Amino acid sequence: MRYSEFGLTTLKEVPAEAEIVSHQLMLRAGLIRRLTSGIFSWMPLGLRVIRKVEAIVREEMNRAGALEMLMPAVQPAELWQESGRWDMYGDLLLKMSDRNERDFCFGPTHEEVITDIARKDLRSYKQLPINWYQIQTKFRDEIRPRYGVMRSREFIMKDAYTFDLDAEGLEASYQNMHAAYSAIFSRLGLKFRVVDADSGEIGGNRSQEFHVLADSGEDAIVFSDVDNYASNIETAATECPAQGPLKPTQKLEKVATPGAKSIEAVANMLGIAANQSIKILIVDGIEQPVALVLRGDHEVNAVKAQKLPGVASPLTMADPAAVREASGCEPGYIGPVGLGMTMYFDHATANLSDFVCGANEVDMHYTGVNFGRDLDAPETVDLRNVVEGDPTPGGKGTLSIARGIEVGHIFQLGTKYSEALGATVLGSDGKEQLLEMGSYGIGITRIVGAAIEQNHDDNGIIWPDPLAPFDVVIVPINMHRSDLVREAADAIYAELADAGLEVLLDDRDARPGVKFADAELIGIPHRIVVSDRGLGNDELEYQHRRDTESRNLKREEALNLLKSAAVT
Ligand code: ATP
Ligand code: MG
Repeated sequence: MRYSEFGLTTLKEVPAEAEIVSHQLMLRAGLIRRLTSGIFSWMPLGLRVIRKVEAIVREEMNRAGALEMLMPAVQPAELWQESGRWDMYGDLLLKMSDRNERDFCFGPTHEEVITDIARKDLRSYKQLPINWYQIQTKFRDEIRPRYGVMRSREFIMKDAYTFDLDAEGLEASYQNMHAAYSAIFSRLGLKFRVVDADSGEIGGNRSQEFHVLADSGEDAIVFSDVDNYASNIETAATECPAQGPLKPTQKLEKVATPGAKSIEAVANMLGIAANQSIKILIVDGIEQPVALVLRGDHEVNAVKAQKLPGVASPLTMADPAAVREASGCEPGYIGPVGLGMTMYFDHATANLSDFVCGANEVDMHYTGVNFGRDLDAPETVDLRNVVEGDPTPGGKGTLSIARGIEVGHIFQLGTKYSEALGATVLGSDGKEQLLEMGSYGIGITRIVGAAIEQNHDDNGIIWPDPLAPFDVVIVPINMHRSDLVREAADAIYAELADAGLEVLLDDRDARPGVKFADAELIGIPHRIVVSDRGLGNDELEYQHRRDTESRNLKREEALNLLKSAAVT
């Protein structure tokens, strides 16, 4: 491709609307253009990267025995009513109606459509197992689209669905996809981890996520230093401390804490550490608001809390008026002593003694509070996020936390959808049996952002080789005045293209500095500079995007080096 014919527009300035580096670089390098909130066009350079991702995904899915198909993006409401998700899926679902006022949605995922196909097409156990996949545009009306294509509203997903006769078959299909996903992310050249995960809206029994590791990742992932345990923080379990509380050494006292509504303010005022206090969050309940009781330095875990009996899902903080009505106290001073509402105590509160908490009176806290004396020792539950250094499940090691970007998610759905939609086959005994289903997603467009988040420097993108939109960029110096340079550049371009490399020839009449800056910004792995001076010595200047300096190589040596890169 000749730059002059490629229509690429790069930007020098960092676009103000982009918060994170991948989004900034994608706009600056001309990979994407924003149409409106969470909706982007993929420009030719960006589309080349998508095609690279898709090709690897397709190859590995096909290799794993999955069958490519294509389902409609627009889906009738009736199917979603059958599964119960028309209402359950919430505002993420983009609903619309046709000229006859029939309701439809733009598919955010395709469990309903594929199960409808399965119930019509699959009759006998002899047709199983089967694995269908597609690469297709999805729409989710995200509450806060951000980070460019990483959390967009319209995006491309690879989604696969397996159907098996029994749980054992499902386990095998699931492990097959686990292996295919591991192969895909390895081949993409990304550093990733697989973690246990919550099944969220999709439902089902078991799920795991694939995360690209990056400091800017939206998700916290937790892993053990002694074994293979790894989990999204959403589902990482905490246990009850092995030892109970120490004996009380202080007496219960009510102390004035004027204006101190936060744990930090109370701790500063009383000269205690946050982990010597208890805090209360009042959240919406199914009937009445519910109190969640945590150690002062811990954070509530929404996924765990919203599964507790009586707690509304999704977890929502009660508004101040509801808090006042339920607790009889001003927010900021509420404590568990004498609080007449449903309370859930986190495990980590179980071994506290002589602690501080709100006294259910404005500007007042208790100090020296002890279970068994000032309030009953509660049954505790798992309510909080794991923190760095917590014990691993089983207690043999400690947990670390890293940031990740979820690029893939695999689920064992079991019979959730086949039961709702009545998808059965005849077993070998001639009896009707519900299909066991799995569902497997990869965020194709999110991968592009995640790859940049993991691979960039101050000058721009550094594509992992398998994702690069071009393998080589040729930068001729003074091409428009030197026939020697122009002829050599054209010849090298042709030779490398013939060898199967994807080559970008920067044939613009522009200063070398401009060309170098753009080549670095768009992140092409190999760069060749063609100049009169170099050609005089039969040399080309070569630099890999990851190298700090260029090298002069004999022309043949440079071209052979690049050709060998094409083979690998
Ligand atoms: P998230 O937790 O990030 O909202 P999810 O768990 O809802 O994602 P899944 O239903 O598991 O998403 O979808 C499969 C894959 O599709 C995800 O692993 C992710 O890579 C991708 N994906 C989901 N939502 C988006 C989005 N808004 N923008 C881009 N990619 C997305
Ligand atoms: Mg997910």
